[in-house]
Amino acid sequence: MIETTNCPVCNSTESKVHLESKNFRINMKPFTVKECTSCTMRYTSPLPAENEIGEYYASENYISHTGTKKGLINTLFHMVRFITIRSKFRLISKVGNGKKLLDVGAGNGVFLNFVNKKGWDVNGVELDDTSRAHIEETLGKKIATTVNDNEEKEEYDVITMWHVLEHVYQLKKDIQTIKGKLKKDGTLLVAVPNCASHDEKRYQDFWSAYDLPIHLYHFRPQNVKDLFAQFDMEVVDIKPMKFDAYWISLESEKYKNGVKNSLGVYIKGFWYGLISNLKAKNGEYSSQIYVIRNK
Ligand SMILES: [Zn+2]
Repeated sequence: MIETTNCPVCNSTESKVHLESKNFRINMKPFTVKECTSCTMRYTSPLPAENEIGEYYASENYISHTGTKKGLINTLFHMVRFITIRSKFRLISKVGNGKKLLDVGAGNGVFLNFVNKKGWDVNGVELDDTSRAHIEETLGKKIATTVNDNEEKEEYDVITMWHVLEHVYQLKKDIQTIKGKLKKDGTLLVAVPNCASHDEKRYQDFWSAYDLPIHLYHFRPQNVKDLFAQFDMEVVDIKPMKFDAYWISLESEKYKNGVKNSLGVYIKGFWYGLISNLKAKNGEYSSQIYVIRNK
């Protein structure tokens, strides 16, 4: 385990414990979320070493990385995913000055494949060997394992990171590399959970979007703005991801009640997801997409 001594955003060494929680998915080991007393950034510390985090990704329940279609919830999940992919595509079409896309942390490649079929020139980065092989087969070309695999310069009109930034160990180094791959007038889209959301306040240490320890950072909008300002980039818009509130509330209800499946948990998860969305003003949703450009 490695202690994080400096704030990942502002580098301050001053922090307080925000909450103690645990890994609910695999082994129930305890983890701590700290909060920087200078800039309010929250981060997981201590962390497993980078070569030891793998065990936390190996879970059948981690369905966002699989393609199975078993059970009502998974069916709903796949329906929602299709709607989400279409809305992500509408967003890249709106913000992009051209049609060249890089998806960093491409997962199962469903989004990349969709965009490819719409006639965009697409490329991806995926760390997981099985997922990457699957994407390469679907797209019919090799893709990179990490953002450091090649030295692309100002290649892309749009770069997307859908729920990826909260997982990366080399946060600032990766942002610098990614900025280098983006055209000067390009757009970076970063989706991350929002720890200043209403569902976080409701569930706190059971809030499933803390996802300890695989989420290393727990951003609120100001933290994202502060972080990218250091790279001469600015957040020009924030888009809500309303489906995430339901998913996160459902998972949080499961953790809170210590049950995997029950009707009560599904009803509560849906209800509190709805409440979170209804209460949220701009910038307060459970998960959000930050639209980021060079200054
Ligand atoms: Zn800080």
